[in-house]
Amino acid sequence: MRYISTRGGGEPQTFRQVLLAGLARDGGLFLPDEIPDVSGRLSGWRSLGYADLAFEIVRLFADDLPAPALREIVTRSYASFRHPEVTPVVPVGPVHMLELFHGPTLAFKDVALQFLGNLFEYVLGQSGEELNIVAATSGDTGSAAIYGVRGRSRIRIFVMHPHGRVSPMQELQMTTVLDDNVCNLAVDGTFDDCQDIVKALFNDLPFRDACRLGAVNSINWARVLAQIVYYFYAALRTQEATGAERVRFAVPTGNFGDIFAGYLAFRMGLPIDRLVLATNENDILARYFGTGVYSLGAVAPTLSPSMDIQVASNFERYLYYLAGEDAVLLAGWMETFKRTGALATPGAEHACIVAGRGDTELTLSTIRAYWERSGYLLDPHTAVGVGVAERHLDPAAPMICLATAHPAKFGAAIVRATGRELAHHPLLDALPGLPTRVTRVPADPAVVARIVRAAVSGA
Ligand SMILES: *Cc1c(COP(=O)(O)O)cnc(C)c1O
Repeated sequence: MRYISTRGGGEPQTFRQVLLAGLARDGGLFLPDEIPDVSGRLSGWRSLGYADLAFEIVRLFADDLPAPALREIVTRSYASFRHPEVTPVVPVGPVHMLELFHGPTLAFKDVALQFLGNLFEYVLGQSGEELNIVAATSGDTGSAAIYGVRGRSRIRIFVMHPHGRVSPMQELQMTTVLDDNVCNLAVDGTFDDCQDIVKALFNDLPFRDACRLGAVNSINWARVLAQIVYYFYAALRTQEATGAERVRFAVPTGNFGDIFAGYLAFRMGLPIDRLVLATNENDILARYFGTGVYSLGAVAPTLSPSMDIQVASNFERYLYYLAGEDAVLLAGWMETFKRTGALATPGAEHACIVAGRGDTELTLSTIRAYWERSGYLLDPHTAVGVGVAERHLDPAAPMICLATAHPAKFGAAIVRATGRELAHHPLLDALPGLPTRVTRVPADPAVVARIVRAAVSGA
């Protein structure tokens, strides 16, 4: 398997190269040069547990890693989850919840980042190289990435979060990690500002090379790859439980990473009948799928902060396929968007994706309804997905809703919805009062670059 840039530059790369590089050198994102069709293998995969299924899928795309090492990495990555099924599927009311929050930081991002941490350690251990990870987080990526790499040799991580715009629990999950290789930066700005700083540092090629930068945001292909697995796992479990041939997925969406993994699962031959993309008030993607125009709005803080995003970094990967895999056309589109803040893709066919927006009111009423009717607590991100999913129910195709975080991460929203302090988790209850470490910085790439350079040269 070879990887190419969405913008068409550079030589084809191996999985190992793409893992360490993160972003392509021409500013594009990496994609495999072909998508394997696995539809003939699904019945054989039915009996596999999560880690074994993950190995079968990941090995198709990471064929430059020795199979025994890959199997060991995958098994170790999912052993850190607190549920034997890793990502269990639970029927609740009219939908099936795919619980993705049983990892160490209680959000779906652990599924990919536990794997990434182990992969980095293996690959760097072989080459003797170092990696300095620069990451932007709207809340959950940061802690999941930190827990993926804390205490590991040859890796440092610098995590930027928008100051005051992540939930108190999300902030504590990051800032209470005091390992020497972890640096938390609170940026005076929005998540998009943090993401722009990451892009600026990566696009400064001399700096990028000198500091051996790596990425754990969902621009890193390996993250998308790890997320493909649970679409297969959940579809197989739900087919088994319901006898349905096709399934639907509802995906609360910010950066288009998670739903893009679902789109690839669809392209690989998983019988997905609809992928329901759900946004909060930051609805650039929902508007795009409604109108064909991708146009920038202002970021509004909501109850689902991990989706408070306007520029969805992974959307470029989807646009590449929409452009008929024409890198020149795609690069032109991205240039137009950068210059004008808007992009129209004429006459686009979206295969299985439909989209909707769930605002604060829908988020709260959905949390309340599922608690009252089923005794099941939804986190506010999951609630956006479930609220929008309810507009797309079909008895012939069960709806699998991605439960992207544990509700205790967003306790304030639960109190607002139900009037009660219902959401707790012992891992989070232990955090308040612990010592923290964080550096406040302006939204300026030069300042962040200085901090990274100082750490690298001081080593
Ligand atoms: C990151 C996140 C999302 C959005 O996922 P994308 O891959 O950015 O679309 C949704 N819910 C939660 C809880 C998240 O942490």
